[in-house]
Amino acid sequence: MRYSKLFGRTVKDAPKDETSVNAKLLTQAGFIRKEVAGVYNFLPLGLRVVNKISNIVREEMNKISGQEILLSALQNKENWQKSGRWNSFDALFKLASQFEKEYALGPTHEEVLVPLAQEFILSYKDLPVYLYQIQTKFRDEARAKSGVLRGREFLMKDFYSFHKTEEDMNDYYEKMKAAYKNVFERLGLAAIETKASGGTFSEFSHEYQVITEAGEDEIIYCPGGDFSENTEISKVPEGKQCDLGHGPLRKVKTIEVGNIFPLSDKFSKAFGLKFKDNKGEEKYVMMGCYGLGITRAMGAIVEVNHDDKGIIWPAEVAPFDVHMVHIEDAESEPWAKEVYEKLTEAGIEVLWDDREAATAGQKFADADLIGIPVRLVVSKKVGKGKVEVKKRNETESKIMGVKDVLTYFCKCDDCECTDCLEK
Ligand code: ATP
Ligand code: MG
Repeated sequence: MRYSKLFGRTVKDAPKDETSVNAKLLTQAGFIRKEVAGVYNFLPLGLRVVNKISNIVREEMNKISGQEILLSALQNKENWQKSGRWNSFDALFKLASQFEKEYALGPTHEEVLVPLAQEFILSYKDLPVYLYQIQTKFRDEARAKSGVLRGREFLMKDFYSFHKTEEDMNDYYEKMKAAYKNVFERLGLAAIETKASGGTFSEFSHEYQVITEAGEDEIIYCPGGDFSENTEISKVPEGKQCDLGHGPLRKVKTIEVGNIFPLSDKFSKAFGLKFKDNKGEEKYVMMGCYGLGITRAMGAIVEVNHDDKGIIWPAEVAPFDVHMVHIEDAESEPWAKEVYEKLTEAGIEVLWDDREAATAGQKFADADLIGIPVRLVVSKKVGKGKVEVKKRNETESKIMGVKDVLTYFCKCDDCECTDCLEK
């Protein structure tokens, strides 16, 4: 992608009406634009990140047999009354139609999916079943000052599992924990699995908490990794020694990026979701639900991965693999083109800063602000057929030939990089 053609561009100053780091940096770097408080538009760079996060989540959910669906955002009021949440869900957007009908604007989807599941889950042979979606949610949040961390409109992955027994639900709950661990590792987010209240859903739940001053939660945890509780429920004092000898427990501010609940029969009972077991007896279906904030994860990544120059994306979620800064002059133009084509052919995503009017200084500053993990420089000074390679989070750079750049990124066994050619 040529930067000169990209829709959206960097701006010098942070927007005055944003206070959060994520909203300031994502706006300045050309990833998002605010529509109204708590609602954002995603520009090409921003959508690339959202899609990368979504695809990682999708891959990990598919690995544990999740089937992807897409449920309605405009929801039946009667089902919200049936579950008792039409009046008790604080942040529910209620939408009045001009034709004297009211709808819920979906903040979550138990009220849609449980009645729908009734049509297909009849006998023990129909269980277990695992369904998820990645979809826009709406919540009438009281405060929306945290950028994409707390939106009134935001993207969430919500997953629902249906089981014959409580035991099966609990087994699957552990599988989901392992899947969440994979997701957050791939996102480059150190998310701490934390025991928390289950609210009106269940006796307890588990939250995935990322340490940041921008967060609204607080956990008490062992830095050795064997204990973490939300301070809303924890009775353990800060400074207590960890049982395994890891040292004192710490209290820190965090943002919740995911939350999983063993629902048991809470919604099955509300909607009469039953199945016939192998003796022909009717039983309530056991359920679990598992949320993960896609756009919130994006915001959390920015909150924990930036410096005074801009964002530093973890490799798997970066909008491009490489930011190629081309210091324009007539001679180096064909080299830049060659590097771009070779890398692109090898499946490496390159953002090519080909702007004629921008100075080298502006291009370097923008590369740091946008935060793609690897920067390449092609110029007369670097030399014909050579590129300067520098990681966003390092200061040292290296000069290498194009084939060695391919080796640097090679994920395969048969491209034109030095390693593959030697094989
Ligand atoms: P919070 O406690 O932060 O308000 P929640 O417990 O109400 O969130 P859930 O209903 O469990 O959230 O939603 C699942 C996930 O969706 C959360 O873990 C979070 O990552 C994300 N999420 C929830 N509310 C928002 C929001 N307003 N903006 C962005 N993401 C959100
Ligand atoms: Mg929560």
